[in-house]
Amino acid sequence: MGKKRKNGIQTAFGLLNVKRGLACALVCVALFPVMMLLRLLEPGNAFLESALIPITFFAVFSGAFAYLLFQTARQRAAAYYELAMWLYAAFFLIYLSYLAGISGNAYVYYASVILGGYLFYLDTVQYVVLAMMELLGCLWFVMSAGTVLTPTGICILAGVHLFAFLSSREAYEIRKEHIIEEHKLKKEMNEAERDPLTGLINRRGLDRRVAEVWSKCVARKETLGVFIIDIDHFKKYNDRFGHVQGDDCICKVAKSISTTVGKNGLVSRIGGEEFLVFVRDMNEKEIYELAEEVRAGVQAMAVPAPEGVVTISLGMDVAAADDELTLQGLYGRADRQLYIAKNEGRNCVRSTRTKRRLSRIG
Ligand code: GH3
Ligand code: MG
Ligand code: MG
Repeated sequence: MGKKRKNGIQTAFGLLNVKRGLACALVCVALFPVMMLLRLLEPGNAFLESALIPITFFAVFSGAFAYLLFQTARQRAAAYYELAMWLYAAFFLIYLSYLAGISGNAYVYYASVILGGYLFYLDTVQYVVLAMMELLGCLWFVMSAGTVLTPTGICILAGVHLFAFLSSREAYEIRKEHIIEEHKLKKEMNEAERDPLTGLINRRGLDRRVAEVWSKCVARKETLGVFIIDIDHFKKYNDRFGHVQGDDCICKVAKSISTTVGKNGLVSRIGGEEFLVFVRDMNEKEIYELAEEVRAGVQAMAVPAPEGVVTISLGMDVAAADDELTLQGLYGRADRQLYIAKNEGRNCVRSTRTKRRLSRIG
């Protein structure tokens, strides 16, 4: 198993454990007023008196632990994650053994052993550490309860441990299989949505990503823009330098476009030497300026071509998102502008609003 895969699994378990820690803290917090009410109804009940402080403590502990796990999982700090889990094992068992000691009830201790195995997902090593801590807790319990463990007691304890171990292992393995399956599916989906030559997303990936944000764009009436980009005279480039160098040129152009667009939009390769850029959350002027920057960026690379340097032509459409607007509509109008750009001499940007824009800008 690769280190990356191991970290991925740990992160997934870490996040699941965060949820469990939070759920535990919430249960404790919810229990607190119930216990207070019971205490009012039945003052002096020894069990209630002894349980209040541990429950408060446990709410704080599991909340703090969930936060610690969340931080380590978020930063993918696998080493800290393990340390956090070990700390949990140590703290949880000593604490619950102490609790069992207070109540002097062996069943509270058995229940705590099972809860210790189930509350969080633990891998085998973590579980073994937990079991060792339980042994310490057990000694503590025996000493504080002032009793000696009988052979029957030892057998029950061993049985409880074995049950907790086996069932917790099973839960862990089943969950692990799910996580691995999810990772595999995600990887396959990512590969199916990516162009192997340039590493950009393909049309399928673009469609899915755009669909994910579309309703938000409509709700916020965002201004959306689509650029359709085509490398100029690329057939001649291939004829002169060959297809291998042609592929290399496509990669350089792809990189230049991605760098210029950055976080402002999604860049996809939709055909041989054709790209589609989807931008949002910018005003019309900024979108037009970005298109110009994209064009200028490719030219500035100064990749030698049969006639000067490699350039691109860019057709664009800009529109405010509403219920009538579709990606297909933006694409179609931008594509027509690309043909105009090609006919008007290439290495230029043409927009459905070019004339108005140029007069305003110029
Ligand atoms: P125009 O300026 O009008 O776009 O001229 P052009 O020569 O670029 O014309 P067109 O877009 O029709 O030609 C595209 C060429 O791109 C044809 C094909 O040889 C080449 N091509 C398409 N896909 C690939 C690819 O993956 N690798 C390489 N090396 N070349 C490709
Ligand atoms: Mg083309
Ligand atoms: Mg071309």
